[in-house]
Amino acid sequence: MIKINTSNPEETFKVGEELGKKLAPGDIVCLQGDLGAGKTSLAKGICAGLGVKGDITSPTYTIVNEYRGKYKVNHMDLYRIRREDELFDLGFEDYLYGDGVTIIEWPDKSGSLMPDQYLDINLRGEGTDREIRIIPQANKFIELMAELKKDVDVSN
Ligand code: ADP
Ligand code: MG
Repeated sequence: MIKINTSNPEETFKVGEELGKKLAPGDIVCLQGDLGAGKTSLAKGICAGLGVKGDITSPTYTIVNEYRGKYKVNHMDLYRIRREDELFDLGFEDYLYGDGVTIIEWPDKSGSLMPDQYLDINLRGEGTDREIRIIPQANKFIELMAELKKDVDVSN
């Protein structure tokens, strides 16, 4: 596990950017945390690190925003999902098991379709101080974690 503290949105973005540089096609990143915890701020950094240019907006209403950087990038926000068939309509599994990198905010909304190999990121905090915990839920992320630890200012 890696624990990182940030004290403004730009720092959170930078953590995402370092992570984004290390992701590969097929990787899934799950972002958990309350509304306003910084999931989208981190996701924007991940997209930038993957070479996505231009505006990256929250997929609050669109559910999924597709970008093209070094690879295809799918940024999802499942907050508004109520039933599993909405995920089928979205083509959720085609995104997950396609050749893009997929970033999911509110992944617990995916119920039984929740992937089992993913990089688990939890955000929380008060005011402008946020704690980001990164846990690899698959062996393929262990090397990436070691590199990330070197590149970000890890607080413990
Ligand atoms: P979420 O997607 O989890 O709802 P957002 O990234 O959209 O969260 O919003 C986070 C809000 O908190 C933004 O308004 C951002 O400016 C603010 N903020 C303050 N400090 C931080 C920090 N350290 N990291 C990320 N966001 C922060
Ligand atoms: Mg968000």
